[in-house]
Amino acid sequence: MVSDISKASIGIAGAGLLGRLLAWRLRRAGAEVSLFEAGSFDQPLAAAQTAAGMIAPVSEAVATEPYVYSLGNRSMQLWPSWLSEFEAETGICINYSRQGSLLVAHPQDLAELNQFERDIQRALITDTQHVPYQRIHSQGIRELESDLSDRLTEGLFLPDEAHIDNRQLLRELIAHCKQLGVQCFENTPAEVFAGEIKTADKTHAFDLVLDCRGVGAQSQWSQVRGVRGEVMSVQTREVSLSRPVRLMHPRYQLYVVPKANNCFVIGATQLESEDRSPVTLQSTLELGSALYTLSPAFAEANIIELKSNLRPALPDNGPQVEINDGLLKINGLFRHGYLLAPVVVDHVINWLNQGEAMPYDQLLGLAEATLSNDLSSNPSIQEQHLA
Ligand SMILES: Cc1cc2nc3c(=O)[nH]c(=O)nc-3n(C[C@H](O)[C@H](O)[C@H](O)COP(=O)(O)OP(=O)(O)OC[C@H]3O[C@@H](n4cnc5c(N)ncnc54)[C@H](O)[C@@H]3O)c2cc1C
Repeated sequence: MVSDISKASIGIAGAGLLGRLLAWRLRRAGAEVSLFEAGSFDQPLAAAQTAAGMIAPVSEAVATEPYVYSLGNRSMQLWPSWLSEFEAETGICINYSRQGSLLVAHPQDLAELNQFERDIQRALITDTQHVPYQRIHSQGIRELESDLSDRLTEGLFLPDEAHIDNRQLLRELIAHCKQLGVQCFENTPAEVFAGEIKTADKTHAFDLVLDCRGVGAQSQWSQVRGVRGEVMSVQTREVSLSRPVRLMHPRYQLYVVPKANNCFVIGATQLESEDRSPVTLQSTLELGSALYTLSPAFAEANIIELKSNLRPALPDNGPQVEINDGLLKINGLFRHGYLLAPVVVDHVINWLNQGEAMPYDQLLGLAEATLSNDLSSNPSIQEQHLA
């Protein structure tokens, strides 16, 4: 499709998480890159802008498919090295923290925590050398997060999880892309075709077009669906957290992710709906009251933002790359885009470098290969996924 990336002209539609990462990685590999975004670069319509920025291989694998854990672990290796490269190129350090995450439950909801522990064991524990969680009690919870309510007496610590300042990342990525000479078009909705991107006033020709429009790709990829999520951001000096905290609850799983300037993102609802209307009162009340039970000190926090958006998903809730000559469609990052984006981007670029044909579902093939490599000592997991 492209014989040499460093000589290729590549058009990317969609400047969300995938579009920005691909623009940066392809430009530094020498390609001529143009990036088209329907919204503005500062306030993108992207799910990536609304996201909480958790990078959570264990939690996501339990909630979706076990192979997400395997792909996620590869991303966990890529993030630090990519962010180091980014800092070396720009002098800017993106806030990325790998101090694990903490799951807690109130005494009346202990069954939820116990079930989650069983789910981890069933889905992921194959290697007794590496058990990806620790059961902790009051003292352990307080040692990790001293501001949480004393009523939380049981928890699970997931040491391998991380979180990133996603808005800083998106902001700095676009600034760096511009500096590197990526042609950036904002407020420019695009249609994609093999070797062509059509905007309202022009058809742009490229050697290769990448469709990274998330839910915006629906008109040209009918299987893509949006899954509504709502988040609330608060600011307070009364509470300090070092890592994401999830509250296990029978009706919803609330998480709180610490951000810069004493801010916290609280999320997220998950509704099979493509409704883009503002956050509902019910969700605001549920998120707010669950937050209050994590620490009553949150009562004085100021609500600084309420936001809803759609997660781009495919039928199996896993990522997929679809190839036609001159057009590569990449989608389905669902609720784990920050977890999976590096491995997906890396995979696409490796494939482009090798110039080999990639079958339709190569990405899932990668997941299976990764599973069988990493977990060859544990056929039960492999069977689970392949069954
Ligand atoms: C509430 C919420 C919380 C989340 N929390 C997390 C989390 O903690 N951790 C995690 O890993 N993931 C999280 N996610 C998921 C993550 O945000 C997505 O998986 C990821 O953003 C998908 O990346 P993408 O680039 O495919 O799509 P997007 O980030 O949605 O980007 C698509 C871009 O394409 C643009 N576009 C659309 N149509 C067109 C068009 N016609 N022409 C040009 N541009 C177009 C859009 O404006 C957008 O900027 C969350 C998502 C939501 C909604």
